[in-house]
Amino acid sequence: MKISRRNLLKSIGVSMAGGIFINGVSSQRVFGEEKGISKVHKPVLPPPTGKRVVILGGGYSGLYCATTLRDLAPEAEIVVVEKYPFFISGPSHVDFVAGLKHLDEITRSYDPIAGRNIRVIRSEVIGVVPEEKKVLTASGNLEYTLLLISTGIRIADEDVLNLIEQPASNAHAWEIGETVEMRKRVEAFTGGRFVVTVPTAPFKCPPGPYEVACLLREYFNNKKVKAEITVVDANDKPQPGPLAQKWTGVLEAREIKYMPNSKVVEIAAGARQLITDKGEKVGYDLVSIIPPNKAATFIRDAGLGDPFVDVDPATFSSKKCDHIFATGDCAKVPYTKSAFTASLQGKSVAHHLAMALGPLGIDVKDPDPIYNVCYPYVSSEESMMVRADWDRDGKMLKADADNPKKEYASSRAAWERGLISGLFGS
Ligand SMILES: Cc1cc2nc3c(=O)[nH]c(=O)nc-3n(C[C@H](O)[C@H](O)[C@H](O)COP(=O)(O)OP(=O)(O)OC[C@H]3O[C@@H](n4cnc5c(N)ncnc54)[C@H](O)[C@@H]3O)c2cc1C
Repeated sequence: MKISRRNLLKSIGVSMAGGIFINGVSSQRVFGEEKGISKVHKPVLPPPTGKRVVILGGGYSGLYCATTLRDLAPEAEIVVVEKYPFFISGPSHVDFVAGLKHLDEITRSYDPIAGRNIRVIRSEVIGVVPEEKKVLTASGNLEYTLLLISTGIRIADEDVLNLIEQPASNAHAWEIGETVEMRKRVEAFTGGRFVVTVPTAPFKCPPGPYEVACLLREYFNNKKVKAEITVVDANDKPQPGPLAQKWTGVLEAREIKYMPNSKVVEIAAGARQLITDKGEKVGYDLVSIIPPNKAATFIRDAGLGDPFVDVDPATFSSKKCDHIFATGDCAKVPYTKSAFTASLQGKSVAHHLAMALGPLGIDVKDPDPIYNVCYPYVSSEESMMVRADWDRDGKMLKADADNPKKEYASSRAAWERGLISGLFGS
């Protein structure tokens, strides 16, 4: 099936006369102060001479969009803005914390991406000014024709009392610096109470917290470290939904205590206690709080959505501003916040961006609907399997799950290698 340009433009709200409008966003609120700031910043690149697509975030979604769009729109200038100098694969954070992989196995240079005629700029995005089609970065302004936001999630430490003032009281596997610290703490742990907390869904990698608990149970057992492990979950059942019952059995079999409906709202580091929204006190010797996941604050400040970017799940175009698109973990879509769907969303939005750029002289195929496949670890040797399929409008069609198997652990390794090599070649 082909997308007709007229229908696509209609669906993303661009008038056939070529005008792009901003919908439902108060220009006063969004542009008031930032407009002044954007004028005093120096440009990080000269204004575009042709069509420029700027992609914020060089993670799975941003990079799969960039490389797909390179093929679909050879004339367009593509710029990726990324705050870190290296790509680090998210799924392997779990492997690293459990001692199954080294960091050098999961980091990649952006050079192969730059080698495909995609500019990769290292800078931190601090704002978006939709009215001026400008991105504000720590290094200067950047003008765009179309913008993709794919900056993943931000860890909202501020939602857990005392975490901002006492950052060293916690470590988790959801950000790279924290992951390195958590590994050190796991290695140094000599026994006692280990507590992992789960934020309210949606959050990045729904099975992740339970995988961490299971892998560390195995690691501590192998080291003969006596650990009492508890998962304190803000949700009413383990995530994602299709795996809930299976996780319950897996956790029980590993003597991991499970506390549903318990949202951690405070850490009392001096007393080594977590406090939940119901006032329960949970003692710990080693703690891994995963705070709520939200999109970057510049998204909220630009009026594009809070806590995630409001988009149409079929086209990924912003509901507030039609030259802006968002995919992956930062977008408010029904798809799982996973590397797998983020990559597919990146490929999919490349088609919508290509069509929105204008006549291309090639047929752009209607992108495939999004689905997710994931192989959550229950031990270093066995994984479960979960799969979910959505239609083009983001309605869930079906979801399946399967019990732990050795072959799924191999599938997991091959799956992640495939995702990485799809971008970097090896
Ligand atoms: C412990 C753990 C286990 C996981 N396991 C799995 C798994 O088994 N299977 C699976 O499919 N997924 C898994 N994931 C989830 C997966 O890693 C994410 O869902 C995926 O990476 C999301 O892709 P993304 O492109 O949306 O965001 P990201 O990959 O997070 O990329 C966002 C990029 O934007 C950059 N960025 C952010 N803010 C700015 C800014 N202001 N300026 C410039 N750059 C910025 C970041 O540095 C980053 O490179 C796991 C994640 C974790 C943490």
